[in-house]
Amino acid sequence: MDLSLTPEDIAFRDEIRAFLDAELTPEFRAWGKLTRSFTSDYDITRRWLQTLNARGWGAPTWPKEYGGPGWSAMQRYIFDRECAAAKAPKFFSMGVRMVGPVIMKFGTPAQKEYFLPRSASAEIMWCQGYSEPGSGSDLASLQTQAVRDGDDYVVNGTKIWTTFGHMADWMFCLVRTSKEAKKQDGISFILIDMKTPGITVRPIITISGDHEVNQVFFDNVRVPVRNLVGPEGQGWTVAKYLLEFERGGVYSPVPAEILEDVEAIAEEPAIRSRAAQAAIANMALEYTEKRVFSGLQSGGNVGAISSLLKIRGSELTQTASELAVETSGLYALVEQPDALTPVSNAEPFGHPDLVTAMPRHLNNRASTIYGGANEIQRNIIAKAVLGL
Ligand SMILES: Cc1cc2nc3c(=O)[nH]c(=O)nc-3n(C[C@H](O)[C@H](O)[C@H](O)COP(=O)(O)OP(=O)(O)OC[C@H]3O[C@@H](n4cnc5c(N)ncnc54)[C@H](O)[C@@H]3O)c2cc1C
Repeated sequence: MDLSLTPEDIAFRDEIRAFLDAELTPEFRAWGKLTRSFTSDYDITRRWLQTLNARGWGAPTWPKEYGGPGWSAMQRYIFDRECAAAKAPKFFSMGVRMVGPVIMKFGTPAQKEYFLPRSASAEIMWCQGYSEPGSGSDLASLQTQAVRDGDDYVVNGTKIWTTFGHMADWMFCLVRTSKEAKKQDGISFILIDMKTPGITVRPIITISGDHEVNQVFFDNVRVPVRNLVGPEGQGWTVAKYLLEFERGGVYSPVPAEILEDVEAIAEEPAIRSRAAQAAIANMALEYTEKRVFSGLQSGGNVGAISSLLKIRGSELTQTASELAVETSGLYALVEQPDALTPVSNAEPFGHPDLVTAMPRHLNNRASTIYGGANEIQRNIIAKAVLGL
């Protein structure tokens, strides 16, 4: 398989570069550069998504019939790589990447008409209500209940680790609509407007000092039955389909970007040598991603192999961010929130390209846990890919 760029790919790459040159304002670049998480500041992300959407690129992975650009896998790859290299704001749109494809496959015509364009334009931003205290890896044990009452479900229970639950407009949520003998049965997938009375969102501040995750409580929250996606009781099938999209992304641009900084700045031979090894491993991941994504139709998903990409992508992101901390040395210990804010004029301690090293390293500790812990991904590979 030839994975090098064709003349058409090069023309496409140049089109992306021209767009980024024109649209990436100094403010967008500054936020992109100072990003220490998988996504930039929420409001900046929304504005950047709107800029992309105005160009027809708000939903890069979607087919044309649903308002996406209909790009090939290679074009999507080039787009991600160029955005990372230009330090564009990073984004992980749960609407585009996760619930959008689910609505395309399982949604009613009315759900498609309402939610898909608004997700692509970032008018609606989403959060994911899967995990609960006690139900993470063992997700099927979830307890949040939805009881039918007329044209509504009445939802009671709690979700935890809800990323951007405090900012999102809507949540896609797994609830128990009946108690069956097999715990995977009786789960349904519903869409909840976060402004509905009875929802309380409490912050959880992580080791990196960031407020990204929350615990969400539902106290007699009324959700119209028309917000059910797929048949009642079949939510487990819908949920698993979504997870393949969550994990089946392109990971290698982020470690590549961090390692480029390390290679440019590090002087210590031991660090340079480990950075070179990580860069080689990341190149192997990049080629694996190209192989997996080439041949994939626009809007399609990669299946269980997404677990392999998630394991290597998250591990390499952690390796790269650890190397950035070591390159920064003692400066990594200085807490400097001002220097992490683009509007501030604070002079950073240490190399300016490494100011995010420690907060990013701490934030990235979670990357082998979220999206399904890596141990669970290994179990999936053993069963679904290797047939063990
Ligand atoms: C920063 C962050 C953001 C998150 N965002 C969201 C979100 O937006 N929405 C959402 O729904 N969830 C979110 N999560 C939750 C995440 O999906 C869960 O944390 C994850 O699935 C692990 O579940 P748990 O925390 O309950 O750990 P547990 O399931 O209790 O696991 C604890 C440890 O035991 C291991 N383990 C468990 N079972 C097995 C097994 N069968 N075989 C081998 N090892 C096993 C795990 O790998 C892990 O190391 C987020 C988590 C984090 C940390």
